[in-house]
Amino acid sequence: MARVARHAVTRLRFLITAGPTREYIDPVRFLSNDSSGRMGFAIAAAAGRRGHRVTLVHGPVALAVPAGVQSVAVVSADEMARACEVEWARADVLIMSAAVADYSVVRRSRSKLKKSARLLTLRLRPTPDILAALARKRRDDQTVVGFALESHDGRRNAESKLSRKKLDAIVLNSAAAMGADGSRVEVLTRDGVWRCLPAQRKSQTAGWLVRFAERLHTAR
Ligand code: C5P
Repeated sequence: MARVARHAVTRLRFLITAGPTREYIDPVRFLSNDSSGRMGFAIAAAAGRRGHRVTLVHGPVALAVPAGVQSVAVVSADEMARACEVEWARADVLIMSAAVADYSVVRRSRSKLKKSARLLTLRLRPTPDILAALARKRRDDQTVVGFALESHDGRRNAESKLSRKKLDAIVLNSAAAMGADGSRVEVLTRDGVWRCLPAQRKSQTAGWLVRFAERLHTAR
């Protein structure tokens, strides 16, 4: 059971995504990334503690689902897209912290690929942009927060993602945050204002982000 929030807040439905996705090449090999899922799980836990109803759609991770949080385990970007689509209709706030794999293989081999001395070429196609698709079809009373992980030109890239994907806010992370206990994030809203959070544990950043999302949602 989620602990009841200390302050009276309107109870919202949060849809949160976390972790990597896996795009299988053959039955035993896949394309993925280093995401641990810690940020998204921490956000789900924080939202639950604030008394919100939380659905956490997550890729393969080694983390326990926080108490009181409803979870949907998925593997691939396509599966994550389908699960989010179903949940989005009844959600108030989306926080898309999953590190969705950007490409999947055009043709997945049914049997394990044999090693040979020849070059192997994989044909890859972009995965569906789940966040952009959900933001495109959102109602006026739904709030959308995305994440950006950049190795360079962070702010410029985050600004362009915020407007291209039609988000209310974007959380900019550095690659050092992947798999770590802590992170230092900056958050941009549509009015062009950047908020810089201190380097701190992901659980602290998560608590701040949930309160921030509540304020964004109320101000709509
Ligand atoms: O474009 P980029 O991958 O940097 O955007 C990051 C944001 O978009 C994250 O919030 C991530 O969860 C989301 N995303 C998505 N579907 C994809 C790729 C990224 O929802 N295929």
